[in-house]
Amino acid sequence: MMSNLALLGGTPVRDKAIPWTNTMGEEEKKAVAEVMESGNLSAFLGRAGAGFLGGPRVQKIEQMFADKFGAKYGISVNSATTALHTAVAACEIGPGDEVLVTPYTMSATASAILMNNAVPVFVDICEDTYTLNPNEIKKWLTPRTKAIIVTNLFGLPGNVPEIVKIAKQHGLYVIEDNAQAPGATIDGKQAGTIGDLGIFSLNYHKVIHSGEGGMILTDNEKLAYRCQLIRNHGEVAVDDLDDENTVVLGSNYRMTELHAAVGIEQLKKLDGFLTMRRRLAEQVTNGLAAIDGLQGVVVPEGYTHSYYVYPIQFDQTVWEISRATFASAMKAEGFPLGEGYVKPLYLLKMYQHKKVYNHTQYPFSFISDPVQIYQKGICPVVEELYGEKLLTADICRVPYTAKDIDDFLTVIEKVWHERKELKKYEKNNISCS
Ligand SMILES: *Cc1c(COP(=O)(O)O)cnc(C)c1O
Repeated sequence: MMSNLALLGGTPVRDKAIPWTNTMGEEEKKAVAEVMESGNLSAFLGRAGAGFLGGPRVQKIEQMFADKFGAKYGISVNSATTALHTAVAACEIGPGDEVLVTPYTMSATASAILMNNAVPVFVDICEDTYTLNPNEIKKWLTPRTKAIIVTNLFGLPGNVPEIVKIAKQHGLYVIEDNAQAPGATIDGKQAGTIGDLGIFSLNYHKVIHSGEGGMILTDNEKLAYRCQLIRNHGEVAVDDLDDENTVVLGSNYRMTELHAAVGIEQLKKLDGFLTMRRRLAEQVTNGLAAIDGLQGVVVPEGYTHSYYVYPIQFDQTVWEISRATFASAMKAEGFPLGEGYVKPLYLLKMYQHKKVYNHTQYPFSFISDPVQIYQKGICPVVEELYGEKLLTADICRVPYTAKDIDDFLTVIEKVWHERKELKKYEKNNISCS
């Protein structure tokens, strides 16, 4: 029997995948033109006084973020990666300290710890939400533990309230990596404002963007001040200010007026983007409910999701084909899927070799009795999702429409009905190596 699956020679539902779409409009163009005309592309000066906090657009976007998400202070930076570095440094974390973090996140979340010469300790996640499991925290606490970084992954906040509760009992800071979940909430409170510090991304790939950019939110005046110093050569500024109580190593993580101008316009569009993402995602969730062996998103009671990507769990025992074969069949129909998200971070070569700077294995070597060595098996839930179960679909975004989601679901059914043919294909395509 001839199969009508595109992977097996049939006609694809879509000729090619739906491309990324430009979300820059007239508003962004006009805002950038105004900065160009002013000539004031960055108004920062690396000293205390006028210019220490940047120009009008930088200060405006900080106020807008703080107001929109409900935080006292906003500190803009040039990426979420530098926002993470700044947040960890603001907590005065350094050599000899440990920070708990999930290994199922963008590498920068954990690198921020190493860049402050502290050591990441990886904590497994909850299988349904993909976020740091509060029940796993105790296992890894030591007198050296200083903070917990929770990533609000794929658009869903972690159980930050519970994590904050545990952190308070042990005197730890909580930093939320909210790069993927702007506008998500828990009981009406905004993700990124529940921990001590929350960071946001304005990178090109995120829900809203300015090319590159980042933001830190906090209610804590001292942490906000430290973030401002770290962003802008603080070791000089504290002397200018005769501040006897603060010592800090700063850098240049400043956002330009151009990026702030774009970010301001994008932030105004966030709610519109989220409404569209949530509508498309709901359609995916409802459709997947009727399909065996695929689990869609489960949003916990009281939470809202920003659907940066749509995660799906694939059950190989039900489908009787591998995740890779399923993904290939979907891609051939014009719906490419991500497989596994990212390698659990502790399995990256840098952690395996414990080589960060030079031959000394510093900062790992600074701790004589490490609570964790990065062997396989320390976070089994993450390893199984990475290796076998998780698929990600980047389909809840412009220019996807309800019709495209219908097509997506139709393609899944088409693949389901021909899984026996795919099984044969799999058998015939076993490689020799
Ligand atoms: C994208 C991302 C980052 C880094 O963002 P940049 O702005 O590109 O530096 C950090 N953490 C998570 C979870 C991300 O998805």
